[in-house]
Formats: sequence, structure tokens, C-alpha cells
Amino acid sequence: MQAIVLHGKNDLRFDSEYPKPTPKAGEVLLKLTYSSICQTDIEMWQHGMFGSGDRPARVLGHEAAGIVIELGEGANVAGIEIGTRVAVENVRTCGTCFFCRKGTSQLCENGRNFGFSDDGGLAEFGVWPAALCIPLPDNVTNEEAPLAEPTSVAVHAVENAKVTVGETAAVIGCGVVGLCTLQVLKAAGLNVIAIDPREQSLKLARELGAIETLNPNDVDPGELLPALTNGYGPDVIIETAGAPGTGLDAANWVRRGGRVVIVGFSHEDATLNFGRAHMAEKTIIGSSATSTGGYQKAVNLIASGAVNVKPLISALVPLDRGIEDGFERMLKPTKDVYRILVGNG
Ligand SMILES: [Zn+2]
Ligand SMILES: [Zn+2]
Repeated sequence: MQAIVLHGKNDLRFDSEYPKPTPKAGEVLLKLTYSSICQTDIEMWQHGMFGSGDRPARVLGHEAAGIVIELGEGANVAGIEIGTRVAVENVRTCGTCFFCRKGTSQLCENGRNFGFSDDGGLAEFGVWPAALCIPLPDNVTNEEAPLAEPTSVAVHAVENAKVTVGETAAVIGCGVVGLCTLQVLKAAGLNVIAIDPREQSLKLARELGAIETLNPNDVDPGELLPALTNGYGPDVIIETAGAPGTGLDAANWVRRGGRVVIVGFSHEDATLNFGRAHMAEKTIIGSSATSTGGYQKAVNLIASGAVNVKPLISALVPLDRGIEDGFERMLKPTKDVYRILVGNG
């Protein structure tokens, strides 16, 4: 079958004869429709894989969707039949480790991932547990379905922020995860201020419901945020940019007693003055991937229209053009894309 396979750092290849998988017990065989390429895929391609286990080569694609075409032994899950269109919940937790038993499966010590530890969605076929296939309502398209992954990340971040109706939040970074987070916050009843240096992303943020947008190239959000929030600053700031210093900005800009959720990934250290941290009683929370149930909620939010992922789909590319028209386009410094979907539909 056709597949886009990462063999190691800087070694991504299109393979037209990659072995077609067979479903094991509890798994289904999926005819994959589309997978989206995200910045994490670009990181793995440029800097090497993480969580690759004992196998050197891996089909990438952790934001994936497909159609069930074969049920493995014992793959009896309500709603999953031959022909069911599904989004692939990409994190496969063990259910038995210390963290899973506490109900915090996102911290599972034995977690496996579609597109990281296991072969993913950038192929014609894939196998995955039936229990981790989320049936798609009729009004969620195969194109929208892979965006359930970044939406599930946004759901987890918003839940970690312990938001309440009527609060004001700021989102730093208006890439795909940031724009999904903005919409999930809005669905939860918050007013949202969006911060990003790219005008195109701020325009999209306004269209998707931000009450204000701030461009840090033009204004100082640290000065303007209190003016927009009764003088104190946002109740919640969710940082999705992962740029140098943006996590620290979030900690400085949130109101006294407010919450900061860090979703973005950065290689850089930043210094926070813990000597003064006690006075403001701020809470800083890390948020990674999603928790149990987050994927289903993401599909529900897309189906209801509360989260609109259509403007985040920048191009559709067939598998055999995925490296040239997908990965290489994502690398360009002037990239004007959110998600490129790769697949044969
Ligand atoms: Zn991703
Ligand atoms: Zn576990």
C-alpha cells in the first residue's frame, strides 16, 4: 500500500509497497481517508522521532480519519461496523498503570500513539482498536474529522483551566490549536481575546468569535489586557504558541488569582520569579494531548457547529504528493497554511 514513512531524522519517504496491516484482536482495519500534517510531524521529520519504540521506521499521521472495512477478532464495539466512518482517537492507554487507575490516562506510562509509536494515518490502510474509533455523525465530513485531534487538545486545555461561564480568557497563539481553543472557550461561555503576531490569524480569530485581537508587533498586550478586562487582566490565559517567552508572558499577564494553561511546546527556558509568586496566587497548569472522553467531546463540538474547523483546512493533497505538497510546504518560512490534509479521500 501507499504510505509516508519516517525512517529517521530528515529521512521521510513515500513508499508504494509498504505492507498492508491486519487487525489484531479488538482492532479494526481502516481504509484511511485523510490525515492532517501538524507541526509535531514537522518536528519529528526535522529533529528525529520520539516515542518510536523498537521499530525504526514509522508511518506518520496522528490526526487521522477513516472507514472501517474489516473487524478483527472480538472487535465488538457499539456503533462500529463495516462502513462506519470514524475519527481515530490517537492515544492508546494501558488502563492499568498508576496514572490510568487514578483516572488520568493522559499521563499513562505505557501509552501508545497512532502515528508516533505505531503506524499512523498517512497511508492507505491502518489498524487501531475499535474502542478508539469515534463514529462520525453524518454532518461531520472526512475532511473535518482529522481536526478532531487538535480540537481534543483544546477541550483538555479548557477543562484544565477550570473555566466558568462569563469569564474572560486570552489565547496566546492563533495556529490551529489556538483557534480551536478560542472556539471551545467560547462554547463554554467565555469572552475570548486572541493574541498573535500574524494578521491573517487575527482576522480568522475575529471571524471565529474573538471579542478582541491583539498583535504584539503593534501593541503591548501586557498594557492593553487590563484595559480590556476591568483593570485586572484575564481570568484565564491559554498559551498555545510555544514561542520563546510566551509562557512567561501568560504568567505575567493573567489577573491575580487567575489560571494559566501551557499547551505550547518550547525548547527554551524562561525565568519566573518564585520569590514573588505567592503574592498573586496564580495557578500555572500544564496540558498535554487529551484526556479520556476528550475526543468524543471534540467530535460533538464539530458536529454541533460550536467548533468550525473548515477555515483551518488549507489544502487537500493525495498521498503520493504528500511530501512535496504537504511536508515541504509546511516547512517554508512564509507558510500561509494551517492544516494540509493528505490522503486519497
Ligand atoms: Zn498534532
Ligand atoms: Zn496507563
